[in-house]
Amino acid sequence: MTIEYGMKDGVLLWVRSPFDGTVTYFNDIHRKPHAFRHLTRPQHLAATPPPLAPRELQVEMERVRNTCVFCPGNEAMTMEEVMRVTYGEIGGKNESYVIIEDGRHFLPDATGLSDLMWSGAIPAQHCYHVLRVAAEVVRRSMANTTVKSVLIRKHQGRESGASQPHIHIQAIGADRIFPDVERDLEVTAQHPHIWQECVDLMRELGFHIEEGDGIASHWSPFGKFGRHFEVISLQDWQPLPDIPDTRLRLFAQYTHRLLRALGTAPYDLEIHHGEGIPLHLHLNGRRYVYANIGGTLNSPADVAENVVPPTRDIVRLLARQMAEEEQSWQC
Ligand SMILES: [Zn+2]
Ligand SMILES: [Zn+2]
Repeated sequence: MTIEYGMKDGVLLWVRSPFDGTVTYFNDIHRKPHAFRHLTRPQHLAATPPPLAPRELQVEMERVRNTCVFCPGNEAMTMEEVMRVTYGEIGGKNESYVIIEDGRHFLPDATGLSDLMWSGAIPAQHCYHVLRVAAEVVRRSMANTTVKSVLIRKHQGRESGASQPHIHIQAIGADRIFPDVERDLEVTAQHPHIWQECVDLMRELGFHIEEGDGIASHWSPFGKFGRHFEVISLQDWQPLPDIPDTRLRLFAQYTHRLLRALGTAPYDLEIHHGEGIPLHLHLNGRRYVYANIGGTLNSPADVAENVVPPTRDIVRLLARQMAEEEQSWQC
């Protein structure tokens, strides 16, 4: 058995699992101011860096922004704009794109260097535009004939392995179908109604969060981690770039409500799409390590404990936000 891996300057960069084909990447995330205002975290657990005087804070924030490759004005610190790269030049290689979700590094009312912008804090409509850009990046990446599949992925928080404090998502194109998506395709080909069945079962078990417009969000035990949520669009079985605009907008709204409800808790997120599977999103809450060696998972009665508000609270929170949002969407 040959294990595939990549090294640079004697340091391991990535390694592919010989068992399920998953690639693990390694990042040096040390020394990056990297935290969020801990909205959902109990105060006694929240990191409490020593407070800075307002003047000092301004200076420090400016220093962080000046060294962040994602902050506006620092374009010279990164490589050429990706959209200018011609596809022929990248043939045979994987493609990796970073989509900056917002120009702001810090929250508008930041009182410390930990008060970073986070995905749920941007408005729903903004979230839709991020997805629209992602869909366009997927379309362009697929124009490279060696690219077989493009995954949209996001890490929030250091615990999830986020490599940059500035909010961003990634689009990763590979010359093979990603193992998880391949598995989705195989199972769906054998059981075309599996997605509807999942939605029905989660509803029956009381795990669903919200449902409408042919889209459902719920907690699901079928994830890689115990705290696994999904948003599934049962009506949209096309690759991401072919999803009609009105449908993408709705998917963004359901996604946004989940992200808003989960707050600044660390998570990783993947959007799976393609011919033969419905558009869906997996989100793994990553605050706490847990064991599932025996295949035992905590039931949702305590799955959200100390991580996110309990599931029922999420529903209430969502209901409140939906009402607020309906108002703001009318303007
Ligand atoms: Zn930045
Ligand atoms: Zn999937």
